[in-house]
Amino acid sequence: MFENSQESRTSLSEYGEFGLIDHLTKNLKINHESTIKGIGDDAAVLDFKDERAVVTTDLLIEGVHFDLSYMPLKHLGYKAVMVNLSDVYAMNATPKQITVSFAVSNRFPVEALEELYAGIQLAADLYKVDVVGGDTSSSTSGLIISVTALGSAKEEDVVYRSGAQPNDLLVVTGDLGAAYMGLQVLEREKEVFKVNPQSQPDLEPYTYLIERQLKPEARKDIPPLLKALDVKPTSMIDISDGLSSEIIHICKKSEKGVYLYEEKIPLDPAVISVCEEFKIDSTTIALSGGEDYELLFTIAQSDFEKIKGNPNFTVIGHMAEEKEGMHLITRANQKIPLIARGWNAMKEKED
Ligand SMILES: [Mg+2]
Repeated sequence: MFENSQESRTSLSEYGEFGLIDHLTKNLKINHESTIKGIGDDAAVLDFKDERAVVTTDLLIEGVHFDLSYMPLKHLGYKAVMVNLSDVYAMNATPKQITVSFAVSNRFPVEALEELYAGIQLAADLYKVDVVGGDTSSSTSGLIISVTALGSAKEEDVVYRSGAQPNDLLVVTGDLGAAYMGLQVLEREKEVFKVNPQSQPDLEPYTYLIERQLKPEARKDIPPLLKALDVKPTSMIDISDGLSSEIIHICKKSEKGVYLYEEKIPLDPAVISVCEEFKIDSTTIALSGGEDYELLFTIAQSDFEKIKGNPNFTVIGHMAEEKEGMHLITRANQKIPLIARGWNAMKEKED
């Protein structure tokens, strides 16, 4: 992942707010012709011509959304951008610009903010988005970071949560649960470290899980891949809170029911083995863990042949009429209600 390079300490007061912004943003490049004016005026000026603009924002608060004892600042900056870009891809749109705002206490030296910004800049470079504005402020306690992403798409390409139809296939990209289990491993090592600061954890078996937690990648490959396959999802959402709550969002917005098949949920072997180690049910983790930043979408059955066999996609269920309800079909072929947090192992009553 990233190397850490925090040695000297320059006080924030040496720069002042405007000097700090100039210092942190001096290496930023402009990638898009839609960015008419980026940083340097009262507001950015953008021109999406005849495309729809999509806008999304996320707020990350120290102690609530991240823990700096195991989240390096460079990773935090990268992840703060990723969670927003993921929402833009979930609209089947292309992110073009971001704004970045943060509040920090004086305990952070300039070098710490340079690390944070290095992660933001790396994400912006790799995902080709322009940083066009933001704000900095002081905070009396922890670090707060807010990113807003702007993107665009042709009107006919935009995909909402609300378009799923009965019998549409429910499809997910990648695999689920790894980011949550990466967090569990990091939390465990933090507790071990508190007891014995000399301990040198062997995190090698957990590399994939920790990388999914600390350096998630938004699925920028999926909207163009779907286009190339001539598939337009009928609904789409990104997986930030866990599979079950995202499925429920699609069902509620589309006014449909769903059948989700436990045996189809894609899990990496590393997730299965760490769940055994932690004695946690891997299906529960996939359903409720969150932070996977994969995409969940529905497609017409007639499009199945176009995605069949593609390693990026797994069909995990199908939509139904709303009155049929939302169900998980277990490996034991039990039908249980799909709920937003955890799962209810009680067999559903026949109606
Ligand atoms: Mg989302």
